[in-house]
Amino acid sequence: MLQILFVLSEMVPYSKTGGLADVGGALPLALQQLGDDIRVLVPWYGRPEQNEMHRLCAVNVPYTHEPAELWITTNRPQVYFLRYPAYYEREGGPYQNALGQDWPDNPRRFALLNRVAVELAQGRISGLDWRPDLVHVHDWQTGLIPYLLELETRVGSTRPATLFTIHNLAYQGRFDPAIMNELHLPGADFHWQGTELYGAFSFMKAGLVYSDRLSTVSPTYAQEIQTDAFGMGLQGLLQQRASQLSGILNGVDEVHWNPRADPYLPAHYHARNLVGKSQCKIQLQQQLGLESQPDTFLLGMISRLVEQKGIDMVLDVLPDLLQRGMQVAILGSGEKHFEARLQELAAIHPGRLAVHIGFDEGLSHRIEAGADAFLMPSRFEPCGLNQMYSLRYGTLPIVHQTGGLADTVVDAGDIARDHERNGFVFSMAHSDDLHHAALRAAALFQQPAAWQRLQQQAMAGNYSWEHSALAYQRLYQQILARP
Ligand code: ADP
Repeated sequence: MLQILFVLSEMVPYSKTGGLADVGGALPLALQQLGDDIRVLVPWYGRPEQNEMHRLCAVNVPYTHEPAELWITTNRPQVYFLRYPAYYEREGGPYQNALGQDWPDNPRRFALLNRVAVELAQGRISGLDWRPDLVHVHDWQTGLIPYLLELETRVGSTRPATLFTIHNLAYQGRFDPAIMNELHLPGADFHWQGTELYGAFSFMKAGLVYSDRLSTVSPTYAQEIQTDAFGMGLQGLLQQRASQLSGILNGVDEVHWNPRADPYLPAHYHARNLVGKSQCKIQLQQQLGLESQPDTFLLGMISRLVEQKGIDMVLDVLPDLLQRGMQVAILGSGEKHFEARLQELAAIHPGRLAVHIGFDEGLSHRIEAGADAFLMPSRFEPCGLNQMYSLRYGTLPIVHQTGGLADTVVDAGDIARDHERNGFVFSMAHSDDLHHAALRAAALFQQPAAWQRLQQQAMAGNYSWEHSALAYQRLYQQILARP
């Protein structure tokens, strides 16, 4: 049985800003079901109902005046919540305040998480007789952990193996190098082969340099990040470490995202009987104030409203698609100018375009079920979850051929992969290409038998976490077998 410590900055059901939280909620459980002893460390951002956890102990680390605390749940897998109210229990999100600005003390906030993770990894938490074989860390918020563990070996300690998973290379945790002093980190490692990234101290770079192995969340993204176009300044390092870099696709929480039993839906359905899906569409149109037209092609989109997700391309093509009589339902939040432009367009096209700004779990399920097709024109997409939810819900995804989108969606015109065809793929991140793909989808929608066949193929795919967990387990074993 492998002993794994999993550290990350957000985790369903306790906190979520994006796909990382879904991974945190699902992958540890899937690994536990394979027989591993996996424990998770995550900050506690506060929530009203706290009765499901209790205090384990105080942890003294040199980064704070007051001791931090570890709290635990009675659930399995074991979750350790790091509590330090001054850092984590604030009005706002895990990384940003309510205005969408990064918390200025983010380096200190996440350094604390990293430092406490090292105490756990080294078996130094009093009253806790446990030490992991391997520490699996995720994104920049945990990037110091491999580095801090490496520093332990320099003073003669042993350490567990480390795996750093990149969920998004664009967020690099870059800060003023003065932070090194405050965090008691040696300045000698601040150079281009160490923790420096173009003059800044980077948590992500520290993770990429000092982890035993690297992985990312799809095979295609693992290749892409080694190129100038996608490497975000880290491509040289990633090329150097290419033989230690794997790509493992995320799965889907099949209990939470299941059109047969989804509690958020007004009706249920499965691949052989899609009547419930039509009912979901009618109800969605009603709920969102769209014209009640069961035969109108309805496109959905659920996304952070940032350039990465191609929302600017969607804005370019929306007027024409609406003009042609299609309906579009968009749920998201993000950059204010995108939100404002979407709302302006919605005001011009009542009954055709519904825009809901905000984060709404229930509505996201209802859009996945009620839409006919799903827009996901991301410029880059490390893995992407919504296209997989769409596939499971028989809502054919329209995607840019990149990262995890390229690994999960097979174009309706790809005759060589006849039985895998499940959506629409365009190759250049350009509005014209998106426009063309959306028109192809709308045309195929007019052929119900062909459309339904693709829906059934989409719904038959295997997007299970068990599949991913087996791949991670193999990777852990490889790392631990290293000489
Ligand atoms: P990323 O992590 O880059 O934002 P992913 O596709 O990997 O993108 O994951 C996004 C997750 O967040 C999905 O589970 C998606 O349904 C959810 N999500 C994004 N925006 C919203 C929103 N406005 N309301 C509800 N869920 C959302």
